[in-house]
Amino acid sequence: MLYKTDMSASVDRPRVLVVGAGPSGLTAAHRLRGAGFHPVLIDQRDRVGGQIRTRREAGYLMEEGATLLPSAYRPVLRIVEELGLHDALIPAGSRVGFARDGQVHELRSEALFRDAVRSPIVSARSKLALAQLGLVNARIGKHLSYEDLSSAGRWDHETPKRFCERHLGLSGEAYDYLIDSTVRGVLGVRSDTISVVELFFMINNILGTTLYAFRNGYSEYIEALAAGHEVRLGATVRELVETADGVRASYTDADGDHVEEAAAAVVTIRGDRIPDLLPGYFTDPSCEAFLRSLRYTKCVVMNVGVTTPPPGVRASVSNIPESIDPGVMGFTCEHNKAPGRVPDGHGLLAFLAMTEHAERLVREDDDTVREWFLRGAEKVLPGLSDTVDHTRISRWNEVIVYSRPGLYRELGEFVRRRPRGSRIELGGIFWSSSNICTATCSGERAVRDLLPLLRADASPPAGVPVTVGERALDGVA
Ligand SMILES: Cc1cc2nc3c(=O)[nH]c(=O)nc-3n(C[C@H](O)[C@H](O)[C@H](O)COP(=O)(O)OP(=O)(O)OC[C@H]3O[C@@H](n4cnc5c(N)ncnc54)[C@H](O)[C@@H]3O)c2cc1C
Repeated sequence: MLYKTDMSASVDRPRVLVVGAGPSGLTAAHRLRGAGFHPVLIDQRDRVGGQIRTRREAGYLMEEGATLLPSAYRPVLRIVEELGLHDALIPAGSRVGFARDGQVHELRSEALFRDAVRSPIVSARSKLALAQLGLVNARIGKHLSYEDLSSAGRWDHETPKRFCERHLGLSGEAYDYLIDSTVRGVLGVRSDTISVVELFFMINNILGTTLYAFRNGYSEYIEALAAGHEVRLGATVRELVETADGVRASYTDADGDHVEEAAAAVVTIRGDRIPDLLPGYFTDPSCEAFLRSLRYTKCVVMNVGVTTPPPGVRASVSNIPESIDPGVMGFTCEHNKAPGRVPDGHGLLAFLAMTEHAERLVREDDDTVREWFLRGAEKVLPGLSDTVDHTRISRWNEVIVYSRPGLYRELGEFVRRRPRGSRIELGGIFWSSSNICTATCSGERAVRDLLPLLRADASPPAGVPVTVGERALDGVA
């Protein structure tokens, strides 16, 4: 099918397969079209967008998956401009909440450290440690690349917990209520398991910036990005191989098995499944071993429309520390984030489950999940259950790469040893801390790496722009 607008004029151009129509694959397709090629997207789901899905239901505008769009996502914002979507993007409420002692304390995301140091949430001693963390953070900030986080590999030796204890003497309340609860609230994992690089990444590149939202939800961006592309939905790619002058994909859809040939391909599926999809692709066994070692988290989300917004909570996104509830990682208040998401006077919250709990919850029925979330929510927002007007439960079997100390140093080896000059390039989120901007950058980089080969095959039609990501090709701006 052609997605929304008929762009059949591009059908005569060299075809490039894009496996996966999430933000990474859609970005790759956008860049391929801009460079004069005809992308063909293939996705096993019955819709585009991957982990982005906005749903309008019972008067509520709900994000079932991704929700935060920080100003640090500059590559995403550039595409927003290119798509003419500037007016759809609005400033969002940028307060971050930290639950403690029956209250949600608020910090401004663009002034996290300044506000934390002034906040009554932690003691004077912890404030000193936080100020030190702010200084370390400022030093590491410029090394935290969305395109390849092995750039921060030299700091990747320990977990955030160990780093805070050893270098800052930060433990106890400040650690539990600020550091661990932030890691939980953003990533849905514990801070004594992952790489410390993730902590710096999230402070610099996600929370420590101002937030935006799309007026009609994140899917507004996806719809614009997908418009006009040839997309095969409900189609699972089983195998992709390089041939003498192109690539050949085998995929299965409701009509059976198919083979599709093209000049090249971009693969944006989860990393641990890539080696099986691409037999013979990796000549260096360590590359294959690295990808197979990647673990992915799960998440369950409950959007809950309420007749009255919780009183006194002005934050758009709030973290819940383990000591209050070990299972619920945090919640967004969509009515604080952007206007037009709720019926008059109502509120809309989305609660998210930590990965260890989501492992079980993804298999439970809606009633059980609803009850579980409301039990946790009541500990922070007492009385919320009495105001519930509408709920929707969403289950996600793969969300982010579950990092570990050393992962980004291993990524550096992968980047050095990976195949070069192939007709198959890899996008996806394993190149850096997992998020939409990382997915976007990897889609752009995959196309940038393919273009010299594609352009050697055949010159694209004259007059098409050939700028990919930040770099211009062939000297054309
Ligand atoms: C609940 C939740 C909240 C989130 N919140 C945020 C947030 O606030 N901010 C943020 O930046 N990020 C957030 N994320 C993460 C973000 O959505 C992902 O990082 C991003 O979607 C990854 O993009 P991607 O294109 O690499 O992968 P995906 O979005 O997962 O897309 C990959 C696509 O590949 C398809 N596919 C897989 N295998 C095959 C195959 N063999 N054949 C065909 N198709 C295949 C899948 O069906 C999927 O559609 C959140 C995610 C979830 C689930």
